[in-house]
Amino acid sequence: MNRPFSPTRVVVTGGAGYIGSHVVLALGEAGYDVLTYDNLSTGNRDAILSGELVVGDLADRDHLTRVLTEFNPAAVLHFAASIEVGESVTDPLKYYRNNSANALNLLEALRSSGTGKMIFSSTAAVYGNPVQLPVTEDAPLQPINPYGASKMMTERFLADLARANTDFRYVALRYFNVAGADPEARLGQDYANPTHLITRALKTALGIFPKLQVFGTDYPTADGTCIRDYIHVADLAQAHLDALNYLTAGHSSTVFNCGYGHGFSVSDVVAVAKKVTGIDFPVEETARREGDPAELIAGCGKIRKQLDWQPRFDDLEVILRTAWEWEKKLMRPSTL
Ligand code: UDP
Repeated sequence: MNRPFSPTRVVVTGGAGYIGSHVVLALGEAGYDVLTYDNLSTGNRDAILSGELVVGDLADRDHLTRVLTEFNPAAVLHFAASIEVGESVTDPLKYYRNNSANALNLLEALRSSGTGKMIFSSTAAVYGNPVQLPVTEDAPLQPINPYGASKMMTERFLADLARANTDFRYVALRYFNVAGADPEARLGQDYANPTHLITRALKTALGIFPKLQVFGTDYPTADGTCIRDYIHVADLAQAHLDALNYLTAGHSSTVFNCGYGHGFSVSDVVAVAKKVTGIDFPVEETARREGDPAELIAGCGKIRKQLDWQPRFDDLEVILRTAWEWEKKLMRPSTL
């Protein structure tokens, strides 16, 4: 039977993944009734700390439509996606399938089920190599890798859909570099083959990887390594709640950058990782990784003003420390 409409009922695709699971927890704590829709291809069942799980694939539009019709959410938060820049260069079709074509399925299912709101996980990779830094939301979208292009396409689907239908509104959140873990270490990143810098650095400190490779030291930056705007996952989760409130309050569709407005180089991150862990782990300088822009820093005035977003963890050391607590917890044998 279809459930009655409630403004606090939401569906989260990819809620078993790293960012999705932190948002599911924050939604639960804020009193939302959450259904996670996830195929568990990279996510973990144990990471869902609130609400219910339906194991399903976004490629299965009929199933998705049934789930949305029966659960009758006020909004869908869409995280489920492939997320690695390097892999997107070598396997672009995977990205256009998982991130663009599946998003189209989701939007069609939303329309069939009458769900009128969506929060979309977009990325700073839609900007490519920005002409101006910090990069603001009105900058041209010129992705330099299929990952960014696949997300840009979904933003376009959303914009066109909202333009054609006044009963559909969305917020796209362009994430910069998301890192860190739940400050109480209930959750964190837990992928079989992590590729992101901070996780690789900490796992190297733990001896899981023999060394950390630094991809490129000849970029046009002060120390030659790439600069990124690292945002704590708990602050990003709060941005989703703020975006949901924004849509519930009746505001119109829009896009927000999610970052702190300042950046750190790969070398900075390595130095802080060594400080936080107290371990002088091996580092090797290697060639550039394909698809990496030299510098990405968020213009974050819009989200602070329009969503009144107030980050609490804007500190690289805190980001590393929370991630470190989580990594150490992952290493401990589970209590029986
Ligand atoms: N990076 C690195 N070594 C690693 C992983 C990443 O030097 O093992 C660099 C990468 O080239 C980029 C930055 O760290 O300049 C951030 O990369 P990450 O994969 O964490 O996030 P992305 O910016 O691709 O979303």
